[in-house]
Amino acid sequence: MPDSDRMNKARDDRKVAVVACPDYDPAHVRAALLRALTLLDAGDLIAPGQGSVYLKPNIVMAGPPAAAITTHPAVVAELARVLSGAGYTVMAGDCPGFYSDSPSLRRIYRQSGYTEPVEAAGGHMCDDASGVRVTLPDAAALREIQMAAAMRGADRIINIAKLKTHSLMEMTAAVKNLFGVVPGVHKAELHARFPRAEDFAETLLDLCEHVGASLHIVDAIVGMEGPGPTAGTPRFTGVLLAGRSPHAVDVAAARLMGMKPESMPLLRRAAARGLLSPNFSDVVLVGDPLERFIADPPYKSGGLSEHFLLRTFGRLVPARMKALLRTQPVVLGNLCVGCGCCARACPARAIDMSSGRPVIDRRSCIRCFCCQELCPRRAVELRRGWRAGK
Ligand code: SF4
Ligand code: SF4
Repeated sequence: MPDSDRMNKARDDRKVAVVACPDYDPAHVRAALLRALTLLDAGDLIAPGQGSVYLKPNIVMAGPPAAAITTHPAVVAELARVLSGAGYTVMAGDCPGFYSDSPSLRRIYRQSGYTEPVEAAGGHMCDDASGVRVTLPDAAALREIQMAAAMRGADRIINIAKLKTHSLMEMTAAVKNLFGVVPGVHKAELHARFPRAEDFAETLLDLCEHVGASLHIVDAIVGMEGPGPTAGTPRFTGVLLAGRSPHAVDVAAARLMGMKPESMPLLRRAAARGLLSPNFSDVVLVGDPLERFIADPPYKSGGLSEHFLLRTFGRLVPARMKALLRTQPVVLGNLCVGCGCCARACPARAIDMSSGRPVIDRRSCIRCFCCQELCPRRAVELRRGWRAGK
């Protein structure tokens, strides 16, 4: 390939389409998606053809569309409509939380408002909960993973994330959404192996590289701020983002939230790997001006970022003070119904349910915050150590 063509391709790969979309009216969403594809010169993705396309939204747990826990079904349904109209076999689905069985998947899709619109649009909600083992010989952190068999078997994957804050990773958008290719229980294994955000970021980058989705879309029409990715508050932002590079899309997503890309562990590690320039300046925005949509004030953070004493002095901080400064999960007794979802999700087996209520063993807790993420009653709160007993 001549140098000029290579440079044009690299530039196209870093393009992020920014497209205003006022609501989830299907006609508005479809128009926004088609405009994004035009801005990206990505018409090839919807050109008439054959084969299968797997649409991978964020369905971390069941929740009505208005709660902004999941990618809004209208975004998935409208892309399904376009692709099925072009002749493709369209499947959609996710590996929510710790669920690894078909009846649970069908229930979660139904409760999240997916089944009817996606199937009416010519797509199929995939309830195959099986996983396959895949090796990642060139990965930096992971050598082997379990991946959802149906996603693995598709000719193409399109990633359709939701813009949300995240208690461990600060933000979930394009790259983080692909953690959902790992079937339920196997997610816990990865959390247990890589409890620190920076190390977990490396595994997410490996996964993202391996999946090789052909397009990354972020539903930021209504995002989530505060204790995301499941217990936060919906926030209108009015825009869809799309691009071929998940890292470039995530830079735009961070800015949209009013946050600095360098404050995101995933973007720091992506830049360190050379997937982005060190100052994130190689992202090419096309379409509507991003400035029009940047949250002001910024999205409320998803967790408590590491205390500046720990960030600055790390190992020099005495163990007792570390325990006081660190963020910990706390169960709110007035909201907890004793369902045990937190204990089943806990990769460190640090939650004991023998009394009928969750009791967290602080010494075993690896502070992954899966319990907060997967509690259906928002009964787990993150607090600094000194407030954990209050
Ligand atoms: S998941 Fe939430 S409601 Fe269920 S036992 Fe745990 S804290 Fe209580
Ligand atoms: S108690 Fe919560 S934060 Fe601690 S390891 Fe278990 S799931 Fe993670």
